[in-house]
Amino acid sequence: MHTLSLRRAAVLGAIFTCVVLLTAINSSIAQNANGDDVDLSVKPGDDFYRYASGAWLKRAASNAGQASYDNRATLMEKTNQRVRDLIEEAAAAHPAKGSVSQKVGDYYASFMDEGGLEAKGLKPLSDEMARISAITNKTSLSAYLGGTLNSEVDGLTANADHIFGVWINQGFEDSKHNLPHLWQGGLGIPDRESYLDPSPKMAELRAAYQAHIAAILKLAGVTDAENKAARILSLEIGIARSHAPDSDSADVFKQNNPWKRADFATKAPGMDWDAYFRAAGLAGQSDFIVWQPSSVTGTSALVGSESIDAWKGYLLFHLIEHYAGVLTKNVAAEDFAFYGTTLSGAQKAPDRSTFAINATNAALGQAVGQLYTQRYFPPEAKAKALAMAGDLITAYRSRISDLSWMSPSTKQKALAKLAAFKIGIGYPDVWIDYSTLNVVRGDAFGNMRRAEAFNRTCNLAQLKKSVDPIEWPINPQVPGAIIMFSPNAEFFAAGILQPPYFDYKGDAASNYGSAGAGMAHEISHSFDELGNIYDAEGRLGKWWSAEDETNYHGVAAKLATQFDSYCPLTDLCVNGKQVLSENIADLAGLRVAHDAYLLSLKGKPDVVIGGLSGEQRFFLAFSQRWRRLQSEAALRRQIKTDTHPPGEYRSDTVRNVDTWYKAYGVAPGDKLYLKPEDRVGIW
Ligand SMILES: [Zn+2]
Repeated sequence: MHTLSLRRAAVLGAIFTCVVLLTAINSSIAQNANGDDVDLSVKPGDDFYRYASGAWLKRAASNAGQASYDNRATLMEKTNQRVRDLIEEAAAAHPAKGSVSQKVGDYYASFMDEGGLEAKGLKPLSDEMARISAITNKTSLSAYLGGTLNSEVDGLTANADHIFGVWINQGFEDSKHNLPHLWQGGLGIPDRESYLDPSPKMAELRAAYQAHIAAILKLAGVTDAENKAARILSLEIGIARSHAPDSDSADVFKQNNPWKRADFATKAPGMDWDAYFRAAGLAGQSDFIVWQPSSVTGTSALVGSESIDAWKGYLLFHLIEHYAGVLTKNVAAEDFAFYGTTLSGAQKAPDRSTFAINATNAALGQAVGQLYTQRYFPPEAKAKALAMAGDLITAYRSRISDLSWMSPSTKQKALAKLAAFKIGIGYPDVWIDYSTLNVVRGDAFGNMRRAEAFNRTCNLAQLKKSVDPIEWPINPQVPGAIIMFSPNAEFFAAGILQPPYFDYKGDAASNYGSAGAGMAHEISHSFDELGNIYDAEGRLGKWWSAEDETNYHGVAAKLATQFDSYCPLTDLCVNGKQVLSENIADLAGLRVAHDAYLLSLKGKPDVVIGGLSGEQRFFLAFSQRWRRLQSEAALRRQIKTDTHPPGEYRSDTVRNVDTWYKAYGVAPGDKLYLKPEDRVGIW
């Protein structure tokens, strides 16, 4: 875990594929019913997006003062504030020692104690520095490196914080056993290309990075810092050279490299692997999955070939970097100058409290999650969302059974996968037990070390347990969701199941049209072209036939053509192929959520709220998910690079659903009208 988090954006591991911040699930029925957001001067059949959100768009334009503004932005603001309040309250309350609140509050307070950190200087690192100084040979170097093998709490990143990262999960082909998945790491700038690209821009970045390394070493009183920095950069260039390119790292079939323990010595000579794995707590482990074999081979060779001194310099620099957040102001300032300003373009460092809150969330994710859900996501909310998820699954079951393009034998596999599919809602049924983690006010460094050790022990303990498909991979307070193709599960955190996305006290029609359609969108990915390579137990292996694929592309082509026709700028149209996969998921989400809404009525008649029928509120909430204010530059960028089309056209998905025509009286002659034979239905 790198506490500054500026260092690199989390990049999605292929196995997660959709670590999604569900960008726009919205259900604000209170406003909808009041008509606050609707523009009644627009005819729904001509421009449903502006009918549904015209008033909101006008208000946002005058209030926002930023290039891009949407539901997600408002939700993030609200949730961040709630989490901040909870953590600060815990810090102020001095709760009983050992309670979850005490750990959260004291962790935060220790981070905020800048005077205390300043007084200690770099002293907290002295034991660790002595261990680095004591490295004399390949064995002691390997042992030290093994001690840095950590599961990283910010998900599977393209570049682990140390030379390798580990993630404990079931095997790609073995769903019965958890295995250590090793992936590449050890770089201080974002990726392989940053080190190898000869362009002047990248050369400049490398020079700035080398200067940053030297500056950090000087702050630690290291002599000859410039020369040492050059050697450290050169070592990292060697590590980068062994890294697999991003395209390989994104291909799960290329990640599936089972290695036996004995393979490391033969396939990757250089490291003393006995010493490495002993120190990593993996001495008895016989099976591994190596995601990028070239990095294990290449980095291990560098342990054999590079001087011990170069490695010691590298380890010292990364030690200081790793703990920069709990050291002195000048270390933090130097770190921000490089990672914040040079690398990310930020001019002003976020205030200390933002940083402390992020660090507390990272170290004690489920502890903060307990406080969050106690206040904001009661069991009643969980029950409502679970019932909705159940209706979605029921709807999928009958839709899959009725598919025209999928062969009968593939349908059986899809239905088996659906039957095995697990959904996590809100928060885990069993929380992580933090009772053995000692958090001491005034000891920020010690707290961070102990939290890392605690999280590492928890992760390695998974190796001794059977596979648990409902093991939570996301903190409850995060406004997001995660698809885990392997095992076969999806998780919707409490942070995303709140207004304006989901209101457990609110109207069902809006909840199903908004959060429900969002959940159904994500579920569809487990069965579409993304999920098609993982079976019911999350094992790698295609379960669609070639014929299914051909038929699927046949029906999907019509939807791509539909989106090709959307041209928001005179010189720029949506590229239907580029956004096809997400549009299919949007359409699946909408149709399945509508089925599920009808199921939820259990035969009871529709009710009218604020002058709108349930059907009308359902589609209105669906459209309002997608409202977004954005500059022309942002719109251009989205159309050119994003796999999701602009919100207006996501809202226009309704054109394919017969019941929308009925709900809003849309008829031939209306601009959005599509003849029945031109409407597309895939799922
Ligand atoms: Zn999607």
